[in-house]
Amino acid sequence: MKFATRFAPSPTGPLHLGHAYSALLAHDMAKAASGTFHLRIDDIDQSRSRRSWEIQIFDDLAWLGIDWPQPVWRQSERLPTYRKALEQLWNRGLLYPCTCTRADIRAAASAPQEGAPLHGPDGLIYPGTCRPDTPPTGPMPDTPLRLDMRRALAEVDSPITFEETGTGPSGETGHIEPADMVTNVGDVALARTGMGASYHLSIVCDDADQAITHVIRGQDLYSATQIHVLLQRLLDLPTPTYHHHRLIRDEHGKRLAKRDDARAIATYRDEGKSPADIRAMVGL
Ligand code: GLU
Ligand code: ZN
Repeated sequence: MKFATRFAPSPTGPLHLGHAYSALLAHDMAKAASGTFHLRIDDIDQSRSRRSWEIQIFDDLAWLGIDWPQPVWRQSERLPTYRKALEQLWNRGLLYPCTCTRADIRAAASAPQEGAPLHGPDGLIYPGTCRPDTPPTGPMPDTPLRLDMRRALAEVDSPITFEETGTGPSGETGHIEPADMVTNVGDVALARTGMGASYHLSIVCDDADQAITHVIRGQDLYSATQIHVLLQRLLDLPTPTYHHHRLIRDEHGKRLAKRDDARAIATYRDEGKSPADIRAMVGL
């Protein structure tokens, strides 16, 4: 299959050095493999996404010497696709409605069983407050929905592995113990308030529909990959090869965040830096 990768930023702030590294690395790897580099806009969270940031992203990436085919996919234009995937899971009894707020979850999660982690790939691990004893029936409601992790894992018989050509933050490679996902991940949200689908559900659909063969992204997303691979199994979608790369950190060793405007590509451009300077700064 022809190599295809993607860079999928959320238009919620300026691109910084960490994004530049991720995009340049993916673009370089696509070029080296005579493959395709797609730019995709992860604007599933419409409350935080801005068209002005999207325009700035296009401009910064083009300045870095990156090119991509048109049209650029936007998650906000793919909601019916995500809905169909959710319906598949709903009809198999793998989802249930849950309108618990973060505060509800915090209150209920404060006393986990001994040894169980409090946080998973999505923040606080959901304590299961709304999980029904028997799967809900009838049409899928238009409410936030969670994946019943125990039921989901029961449907996946083979061990969950994936090809990892980079590493996780602690040197992990693509092996998941399904049983661990109950305690380490829990019942993740797949549809959220005000959003047709969660990040996990939407990117899994996007990667499959865009025939992405290689997902190249930061190690901060390594722990989310087990959710993505599980969803691929449940939805009968192919699993791409994953390459999780090192993170670009500031001088205190802290990972760069969207609010680190000082390290925004736009700021370096204003200061007169060149794309070659940016490459050197991120070690490419
Ligand atoms: N939109 C995600 C982010 O900004 C990227 C998701 C991915 O690469 O899987 O972190
Ligand atoms: Zn709930």
